[in-house]
Amino acid sequence: MSPALREDAPSVRAAIDRVVTSGSFILGAEVAAFESEFAAASGAAHAVGVGSGTDAIALILRALDIGPGDEVITTPLSAAFTALAVMMVGARPVFADIDPTRLTIGPDAVAAAVTARTRAILPVHLYGQSADMEALARVASHHGLPIVEDCCQAHLATAAGRPVGTIGVAGAFSFYPTKNLGALGDGGAVVTNEASLAERIKRLRNGGQSHRCHHELPGINSRLDEMQAAILRARLPHLGGWTAARRRLAALYHAELAGAPAVTVPPPLDAGHVYHLFVVLTPRRTRLQQHLAARGIDTLVHYPVSIARQPALAAMAPADCPRAARICDELLSLPLHPGLTDRAVRQVATAVRELQEG
Ligand SMILES: *Cc1c(COP(=O)(O)O)cnc(C)c1O
Repeated sequence: MSPALREDAPSVRAAIDRVVTSGSFILGAEVAAFESEFAAASGAAHAVGVGSGTDAIALILRALDIGPGDEVITTPLSAAFTALAVMMVGARPVFADIDPTRLTIGPDAVAAAVTARTRAILPVHLYGQSADMEALARVASHHGLPIVEDCCQAHLATAAGRPVGTIGVAGAFSFYPTKNLGALGDGGAVVTNEASLAERIKRLRNGGQSHRCHHELPGINSRLDEMQAAILRARLPHLGGWTAARRRLAALYHAELAGAPAVTVPPPLDAGHVYHLFVVLTPRRTRLQQHLAARGIDTLVHYPVSIARQPALAAMAPADCPRAARICDELLSLPLHPGLTDRAVRQVATAVRELQEG
């Protein structure tokens, strides 16, 4: 369940009223204010509000002039939207298999996947933890490639102390309702430290217009609207507290699940992890899901199918990525949101521990 409207409810309602009264619904004062507030919160010089996280990725690639004939190296373990965004600009997603411990794209596999057509590397900061950005930066600089960061699960996350989205050339965020910062509908943002890239994306999101009715670039229509921007402005001040709550609950899960026979809990590898999800690995997933469901505990799988094996990607002739495919059979996301109580976490952990190995 999405943790909609909690302590932020009064300010969200006030924001909605403010927009209704203003009569301004597209590219007005709320979006401009949210862009500067989100940039500041994210440690980036610029933010550009767009229609979704998927569009944020596609707009960055488009702004980098990546298109037909080009390849973008990305991970097979993510929301498929990461790879679909590459296809939206006409480029080919090329999959590099995951690091089996971190579960993010493997830097050695990236190095092995580079060809003369490669134009960018697109890592995903999965479940709230950054990809191995130091190793990826070495590969990227060796080949002179830009890194585009998929930060859709990593609001306020850092990688070795650096804010995600500012390590590569730009970062893409989603405000889908269940993300760590969610709107009451679709929304997204690009962050970057490069002023010229931010300006280009501002044009591209609005039909490529330089000014009204003058279309200089082949843009698209992907604007964060005033209503969602106002709602996000009401919620942004809570994000730090929500992130702290996620981290505290995740630490409790780690303590309570230590030595549980049927699951492996991936170790946290970066203190900047923001726990969008709390994911464990189990060879007995169906059994464990049933066991938890019988106790009223709902779980989900992020993700049951490697993107490299999705039918929609078949025409891209993806490399198979066996490590991701194997992990996809074992992933299980336990309940986690900032409103969860310690007691609920202990109950879930107790139920998980009841299931024996084998
Ligand atoms: C949610 C998500 C997306 C897509 O974001 P939308 O706003 O739904 O388009 C892309 N990548 C990752 C890793 C995501 O979690």
